[in-house]
Amino acid sequence: MTGEDVFAAWREAMVVEQIERRGIRNPRVLEAFRRIPRHEFVPPALRSRAYDDGPLPIGKGQTISQPFIVALMTSLLQLQGDEKVLEVGTGSGYQAAILSVLAKWVYTIERHEVLAQRAKATFERLGLKNITVICGDGSLGYPEAAPYQGIIVTAAAAAPPPPLLEQLDEGGRLVIPIGDYMGQVLQVWTKEKGRVDYEDILPVSFVPLRGRFGWSPQAWERFEEDDSEAEQ
Ligand code: SAM
Repeated sequence: MTGEDVFAAWREAMVVEQIERRGIRNPRVLEAFRRIPRHEFVPPALRSRAYDDGPLPIGKGQTISQPFIVALMTSLLQLQGDEKVLEVGTGSGYQAAILSVLAKWVYTIERHEVLAQRAKATFERLGLKNITVICGDGSLGYPEAAPYQGIIVTAAAAAPPPPLLEQLDEGGRLVIPIGDYMGQVLQVWTKEKGRVDYEDILPVSFVPLRGRFGWSPQAWERFEEDDSEAEQ
């Protein structure tokens, strides 16, 4: 077996055991996970763990999320194929690559230039042409291409950033982890006749959303600081 055959076998096992068996049955979503080579999105030294059932570090203190969480967030968007989607938090680019199989166009924003550039290079290497990478503060959204039929935020916020709700199209869906360093809940926000509503899905654990409508470093770290003071 070649290296690529081994990765393909691991990928198939990931789809069946981590995603399908946990209840995600949408054939289009499963096909996207079969098609996108996750090992291309992790640092070379971690490629042998690319199909493991958990997150992995990608540099700059950030992570590529657990495959099941990527699959769950993807399926919650209920994409049909003709949508314009906004992702906040490009990270490795893996989530954006999955979305590019399922939607018409993906705009993805990352605040770390080095991660944005690396993701862009990976998309080019894999021939994924329907993704626009923007480096900047994704908590402001990307009004230039709004409205979006789907918005996905892959970092935790205290509340949905108002610009994202504004840039969500009528009938659109926003998937976002809401909470702090103690834990978060994944929520789906919908917009119908101009009114927004939300549903809680399940507890999750994400890195913080930064920027204008994200967490300040002081607010996110406060618990740990208080704790160390108490021990002195
Ligand atoms: N979706 C990513 C993937 O598939 O690899 C995982 C994202 S990682 C859990 C969260 C990312 O959000 C980090 O890369 C972080 O730098 C980014 N981020 C945090 N706040 C941001 C902001 N205000 N604007 C843009 N990116 C932000």
